[in-house]
Parts: sequence; C-alpha cells; structure tokens
Amino acid sequence: MNPLAQELAELIRQEGPLGVSRYMALCLGHPRHGYYMKQDPFGADGDFTTAPEISQVFGELIGLWAASVWQAMGMPASVRLIELGPGRGTLMQDMLRAAGALPGFRDALSVHLVETSPVLRERQRGTLAASDATPHWHDRIEQALEGPAIVIANEFLDALPLDQFVRTPEGWRERLVGLDGEGRLAFGLSGEPDASLAMTAPAGSLFEHPAAALEAVTIVARHVAAEGGAGLFIDYGPARSGFGDTLQALKRHAFVDVLAEPGDADLTVHVDFARMAQAGLAAGAAAHGAVSQRDFLLALGLQQRFEALCRRATPAQVETLAGGVGRLIETGPTAMGELFKVLAVAERNLPLLPGFDLHRLPEQG
Ligand code: SAH
Repeated sequence: MNPLAQELAELIRQEGPLGVSRYMALCLGHPRHGYYMKQDPFGADGDFTTAPEISQVFGELIGLWAASVWQAMGMPASVRLIELGPGRGTLMQDMLRAAGALPGFRDALSVHLVETSPVLRERQRGTLAASDATPHWHDRIEQALEGPAIVIANEFLDALPLDQFVRTPEGWRERLVGLDGEGRLAFGLSGEPDASLAMTAPAGSLFEHPAAALEAVTIVARHVAAEGGAGLFIDYGPARSGFGDTLQALKRHAFVDVLAEPGDADLTVHVDFARMAQAGLAAGAAAHGAVSQRDFLLALGLQQRFEALCRRATPAQVETLAGGVGRLIETGPTAMGELFKVLAVAERNLPLLPGFDLHRLPEQG
C-alpha cells in the first residue's frame, strides 16, 4: 500500500468508511499525497493527454470563440478571461495568441486562473511568461469572478468529486470506501438506505450525484447571468443522463483499479451534460448545447485554421498538424470528437453563440 492508502486506511479505522466524494477529493487534493498536488501528469510520458496538449488549434479556436463572445457582449472595456483547472497553461497561451487577432479584446481582458495545485501553478507561470499577460491565481471560482467574465474549463468538471448510490431492494444505499478482511481498501455499501433519493431503478443500478460539478456550473451561470458573459465547459461524458459507474483511474495512459494506487493515478468521472445544462438554466443563464467536440470545433472553423497553418508548414509539420487536428474531431464512442461534449452557459440576451450553430439534438442516431 502506498503512503496515501495507509493514511486512508487509518482514517477509515478511526472514522468509518468514506463516501466516494471524500475518497476522490483526498486522492486528487491531499496536500502532500494528492495526485494534482505533487506532479504534472500530462503528456506522452505522463498519465494522460488533453486536447490543448494535442494541438494548438484547440486553444486558438477557443480564443476566437472568446473574442466573438466579447463582441456579442457589446465589447465591454474590461472583461475577465478566467480558466478553471488550467493544467500546464497551454490552452490559455494558445487562446491569448489567437485573441491578439482582435486587439480591442486583447486590451480589454485580464487573465485569471483557478488552480489548487502549487506544482501546476508554477508550470502555468512558466508557460505564460512568454505572453504579455499578467495572470492572477485563485483557489476558488468565486474569488475569480468579478464583473463581465468569460470562463473556460477543459477537463475540469471530470476532476470534481461525486457520490455514488446503488439501488438495492431496500432503496438507494451509498457506495463507500472501507477496508476488507486484510485491511486493504474495498468498496461496500452504507447500512441504511438514503431516504432523500426517490427515483426508481432496477436493483443494482448505480446513481452518481456530481454535487461539486453542479455547484461549479451553478456559480458560473449565476455570475454571467447577472454580470454578463459566458462559461464554456468541455469534458467527456454523455449528453443524456443515465445510470452507471463512471469513476475511472488512469496511469501511464492505461486504466487501473480505482482503489489500487490512491494519489498515484488520475481519478475522474464522466460529466452528465444534461444535468449540467439544467443547473445552468436553474441559475438563470441560457444553456447552449451540449454539442460534440467535433461539431463545435468544425463550426468554429477547424478546417480553415488547419489549412492556414499548413500554408506556412513543412511537410513534416503538416503531418503532425493533421494528426493532432484529426484526433480532436475523431468519431467513435471513445474518441475525442464524439465522447467529449461542449456546453456553454451564458447571459440570456446573447445571440446563439459560435460553435453551437450546428447544434443537433444529441440522440439523433
Ligand atoms: N485544462 C487542462 C488540465 C485538465 S486536468 C487541460 O486541458 O490540459 C484538471 C486541472 O484542474 C488541473 O490543473 C488540476 O490541478 C485542476 N483542479 C483539479 N481540481 C481542482 C479544484 N477543485 N479547484 C481548482 N483546480 C482544480
């Protein structure tokens, strides 16, 4: 057992089994052993690769998206460009470069990053040193939000802790992390059913309650509805709600047991976009999408951007560009273009936002 597993086992012996959200929060955010607290997990030698690390075109198109949102907002003299969970800072770097195409926007914006990991903050500082922006860091979303805001979050919601419940003949019982006979971490169920969950489902069904992700979307939606702007959430998950266990652990680009290496493997969940959109609407914002990442990026002009870059590239660079861009929009149930969805929450008087004009109902087959 690694150091965090030993510490969790001790905690469970003292306080009893942990809810899945507490387990996730400790695995990712434990001050010493938490996954994001101690390392930079991205890239080919890391545990996983994200869209901005695959191709610069991703961040550039989102930078242009932000610029058109600013125009639709009536070009306010000052706007906060806020990123939630900025990783290595690559997406922000590419966005700012593209935003330079619209000098008024570049002058109006200030850069705010919401990041809990000290290791990644340093990484972001290094990446953004080359840009002319002066980033401001915050621990919590609320601290970053002030005045008109454009909020971007790629693969942020999937890292926020959720709770799980399993349908039994007696009702919904919470799934907990406890200890087996040999003192190792093991899943079990709460003794008492949770009376607050009323919906019916076949026995064995698993229900996930993503309280932290719903709260994040609600905070952003409430703010942009009142102060102006929009929030863009990109992540993997279904457009339509369903039952099922989506908790997964990834290490060196392969799935591992979610209890085996706490703090040493990335732990994420799929994002239920239908419920996120409902949270945005309930907070008083308009919801755009969710659409697939493929539809979103193609509608923003991925093909044209790719061709423009190719004109000044060597044949080898063209090949790399084509590979990256192809991966962003690849179709198939586990491929990025289809598994990843894009949802915007926005002040209600904005027109249909760019990227959502190809919007199709998600279950069209
Ligand atoms: N957006 C980046 C990185 C995604 S990984 C990319 O696309 O490459 C998740 C990011 O969210 C990391 O930067 C991680 O440190 C940060 N993070 C995770 N939980 C967080 C929380 N509760 N508050 C703020 N940042 C968090």
